[in-house]
This record gives sequence, structure tokens and C-alpha cells, in this order.
Amino acid sequence: MTTAEIKAMATQYIMNTYGDRQLAFIKGEGAYVWDAEGKKHLDFLSGIAVNGLGHCHPRVVEAIRNQAETLLHISNLYYIQPQAKLAKILVENGELDQCFFCNSGAEANEAAIKIARKFVKDSGRPNAFEIITMEQSFHGRTIATITATAQPKYHQGFEPMLPGFVYVPFDDLGAVADAISEKTCAILVEPIQSEGGVNVPGEGYLQRLRDLCDANDLVLIFDEVQTSPARLGTFFGYQSYGVTPDVITMAKALGGGTPIGAMMAKRAVADSFVPGTHAATFGGNPLVTAAAVATLETILEQNLCANAKQIGNYIVKKFLTFKDRYPLIDIRGRGLLRGLVFSVDAKPLAAKCIENGLITICTNDHVLRFLPPLNITEEHVDEAYQILEKSMDDVGL
Ligand SMILES: *Cc1c(COP(=O)(O)O)cnc(C)c1O
Repeated sequence: MTTAEIKAMATQYIMNTYGDRQLAFIKGEGAYVWDAEGKKHLDFLSGIAVNGLGHCHPRVVEAIRNQAETLLHISNLYYIQPQAKLAKILVENGELDQCFFCNSGAEANEAAIKIARKFVKDSGRPNAFEIITMEQSFHGRTIATITATAQPKYHQGFEPMLPGFVYVPFDDLGAVADAISEKTCAILVEPIQSEGGVNVPGEGYLQRLRDLCDANDLVLIFDEVQTSPARLGTFFGYQSYGVTPDVITMAKALGGGTPIGAMMAKRAVADSFVPGTHAATFGGNPLVTAAAVATLETILEQNLCANAKQIGNYIVKKFLTFKDRYPLIDIRGRGLLRGLVFSVDAKPLAAKCIENGLITICTNDHVLRFLPPLNITEEHVDEAYQILEKSMDDVGL
């Protein structure tokens, strides 16, 4: 099918939640994807931070093929071998003690919200249910997670929001301290806000949140749906900051392209989930957990945390050279979560990059966001550099 044919069919039969799109992709390999007309594109978005090993990584494909032939799905009424293996890898590579598996980032955050409320109630504070979240955050699209997402544009038309969420500006410790009351049970924060514009908190911010939680008996939850695994240059994003939360949520890159989410917690908090308190039919099913095991083993064996850090630094060094010739004012982020900040609207530039074969996205109007695969090389960055330069010239920046 041509792009036009796919588009016509999709437009007629699929609800229009994603709007008009430029392309349809039909094949991928490594850092590249091919559109329906056969044109090759360099993917610096990885399906929004999902394809951490690039497209169709052979280890992941093989794990999926083997598992599909062996046992595709079985319910959580039984123990599931690859699910247990995945949990072991996640626990052994970090500071948290146990996992709950689900199917997406929003669901992982739902699980985190539930366990935080339950844990604080179990600890003898039945009236503490409020969760403090940050302006410009993004936590998902379910009713609870849009409520947690402190951006009015995601609430509009879906009111009333869920009770029990309090918003404060990101990176403002005074505002957090002022918002804490006897009703507070948790603080939910992304170590780096990605959707919100690649906003990096100031030195010590996450540690001070840890201190505030310790002083007030609150659960510290990091939404690491986009920052783990490996994207910031450490296996878990929180390890880049040396601050251990009580709960983290993951999804996007965890399954190497398959839909999986995870919520992890310290033992004391994890103990609040007991039989009957939470469940997901597909959560941690054999297919996706086998894919996730292959993904994480590859990340660890190939030392992709170090690669993310090294190539991330190379991106900064290389792209900062645009500063004297173009309206680029800053490069934000960490590892391979990067935002190029322009002093002008970056939307036309993002569209031009895509037209010229570099997949990226504009966020917050003036930030061009890069979330390339974790295993890219300097040569890929050089190629992206050429396309970006041409695109900036094409749109007259
Ligand atoms: C993408 C994202 C989510 C939502 O994940 P879904 O899988 O789309 O539900 C939540 N939090 C953060 C930080 C994200 O980037």
C-alpha cells in the first residue's frame, strides 16, 4: 500500500486522536526505518523512546519468536518463568526490591498511585491520600494519570479530575515544602521532564525531595517511563543522581518494542500489595517479558549505559557548534534524552527534518527532542547533524 492508501483507510476507520501525519513506516532495522514509498529515514525518536536497541534487534526478535512458539500467554494465576527472570534482572541492577508488571506507562503510574495510597494507609495515616506532582509533568492518559499530569490541556473536556492531586512548579523546593500537609502521602516526579520540554532539575533537587519525603513519611515516586533503562547513562535514571526513590515506574524501552510496564518498590512499600489488591490480565505475560529479558541482557552485555552517556556527550559537543550560525540557544538533557532549544518556533523545523529523513519531534513549541536508540554510534550522530543543518537552511533559520 502507498502512504496515501494507508492514510485514507486509517482516517476513515480510526478515531482521530493523533491528527494528520506525514508518513507511514513499514519496515525497520537498527537506527533506520523505511516508509511506504521505500525511502530510508534515520530514527532519532525510537518510537518515542521505545526502541532502545533500534528496530527489530535480532536478540529481541529471536526471543519473541522462541517464546511465541513455546508459550505465548498464560495468566498470572500461574508463575511465569520469563517474568520471574525479568524481575530478578531489574532488582539486581538497582536498589528497589520487588516488581509489579503491567502493559504501559500510564498503568505503571496507576499502580504507583495505588501502592502509595495503600502503603500510607497501612502505616496508620488513613487520611493521607494526596500526591504532589509537578507542573509540565507527563504521567499518562488514564483519568488518574491525566489528573497527576499537571497540564490543563490534558484535562480539558474530561473533568471532573480525580481528587487528591496537588500541583507545584517543577524544580521549586519551597513550593513542595509548602504543599505538604497531613493529607499528603507521596511526591511523584520525573527525574527529567521529557514531554514537558526536556526540563532538567537543578543540582540537589531530587535529593532534597528525598529528604522532604523522609522527614514527612512520604513515598517518593520517580516516573522513569522515559528515563529507564539506560537512557540517562545509568541503568536506572535515578542512579545518575545518586538518589533512590521508594517507587519507580517504567515502560517505553523496557520491552524492546513490546508493550510492557513495570512498577518497582522498596520492600516495605511492596508489602502493601497483597493478594487481591492489584492485577493486570496481560501484565508481565510470557511474550513481553521474554522480549524485555532479551532487551535488558543486551543493554547490560553491550554496556549501553556507557554508550548512552558517551554518545550523549558527543551530541552536545557536535550540535552546540550550530549555536553561532543558527537560533539554537541551548542543549538540555542527559545521556540520550536531549532537547535542542531554539529561540524560535521549532515545529516547522521538526517537519522539515522528517521530510529530509531525520525523525525527531518538537515539544513545548521551541524544543527539538532527540531520543535515539541506546546503541547508536558517532556516525549516526554525524548523519543527523548533516540532515539537521540542511533542514535549518531549508526553513531559513
Ligand atoms: C510516555 C510516558 C507515560 C505514559 O506511558 P504510556 O505507555 O503512553 O501510557 C508516562 N510517563 C512518562 C514520563 C512518559 O514519558
